[in-house]
Amino acid sequence: MNAQPMAITGCTILPMTGPGAVIDSGCVSVTDGVITAVQAGELPEGKGETRIDGRGMVLMPGLVNAHTHLYQVLLRAVWEDMPFLAWLKRIYGVAESLNPDHVMAGTLLGCLENLKGGVTTVCEHNFLNPGPECAVTAVEAISRSGLRGVFARTIMDSGEIVPDCTKETPETAFGRIEDLMARQPGAGSSRDDHRLTFRTGPNTPPINASPDLLREIRRFAHQHSIGISAHVAESASVVEVTRRELGRPGVVAHLKDFDLPGEDAIFAHSVHLSPEEIRHLAETGTSVSHNPVSNMMLGDGIAPVVEMLAAGVRVGLGTDGAASNHGQDLFETMKAASLLQKVKHQDAGVIDPYSVLRMATIDGAHALGLGSVCGTVEAGKRADLILVDIRKPHFQPVNDLVSQLVHCAKATDVDTVVVDGRVLMRDRQCTLLDEHEILQRARGAQGDLMARMSVA
Ligand SMILES: [Zn+2]
Repeated sequence: MNAQPMAITGCTILPMTGPGAVIDSGCVSVTDGVITAVQAGELPEGKGETRIDGRGMVLMPGLVNAHTHLYQVLLRAVWEDMPFLAWLKRIYGVAESLNPDHVMAGTLLGCLENLKGGVTTVCEHNFLNPGPECAVTAVEAISRSGLRGVFARTIMDSGEIVPDCTKETPETAFGRIEDLMARQPGAGSSRDDHRLTFRTGPNTPPINASPDLLREIRRFAHQHSIGISAHVAESASVVEVTRRELGRPGVVAHLKDFDLPGEDAIFAHSVHLSPEEIRHLAETGTSVSHNPVSNMMLGDGIAPVVEMLAAGVRVGLGTDGAASNHGQDLFETMKAASLLQKVKHQDAGVIDPYSVLRMATIDGAHALGLGSVCGTVEAGKRADLILVDIRKPHFQPVNDLVSQLVHCAKATDVDTVVVDGRVLMRDRQCTLLDEHEILQRARGAQGDLMARMSVA
């Protein structure tokens, strides 16, 4: 399964093991999908390993997209300029038209875009399940892509804006999730390579999750030793519903009643939190996926990232789905995350570039339970690596490598992508995925989906 031994040579290495850790010219060796050596200087004469010349490039950990909905690339720029809950109703309505062919085409294109932008791990927060097949197909597409996947198969059981076809009882959903996991022998938290792990969760509590569902999700997650993913306090309107209908001060406060926060949980967005709720996330070890471009696109607000980091909350970065982004570019996301906090606090020094780069790599890996697997360039970790070409006009000259990776680099600067020791892209050419076929297929699926939804 894994490629033959490999060495990447002559590159600048940014291992993300601590501020200031950088090797100006070095090499990384990989065997059986695992990093075996990270060293300065040139490698001695080869022993038959594949060699990749990394001169002029930075070798760093592959980026971790901690929250997305891959198939939504088919829905780029379809619904804009509407309030969050109105937009969400449209998104949920897609379930009435969505079939596995759309999911396969969209998920493959979403994976392709992530891969070409240097993402090596994606957390797919899956929530439209008009039947069991859509999730099965999405997992298959992620597996085909070669990316490391965290598949969060979430559940909706209520809510007037949710079509009946995608509401599930907890029993039905749990049975489908068990079937899904059983199809992937060794997947979960036990497989050594952690290529695919599963999560569950409510989708956007409380507007589509009953108290019974929240209680059952915590029990099910514990029972199967899987994590939780949820959209949390994304907009002020969701917090308002929580207050009006449940009498709770916020979404985290509501979820706390059901023991959903915890070290195995990642709460996407977390834009509208009280200081007490931030403290609770820190105390319980709950992680957050910050999705600034989506928050800006939907007009949801600015997440309290500086406050969360100061409190000790682990924050990863996500693009969110392309229906609210409209892309899957984690370099752009890093820049947005940095600039948005500077604007919010009217303080250019309120967040440093290294912290932002950590969010997109090792902190995102930890947030998804993969901190010991990937997220840094260190011997013993799985080889999820990217080479970023820094010889481009917009990157030169180099005064501050870390700041320029956050504020100057573009997704298209990624030259080479390695996941689990397997080269998935080199010289920007995909080695596993057929780019032409995926684009063609996605255009066909988009036309069919739009026709079914009768979107003018
Ligand atoms: Zn989302």
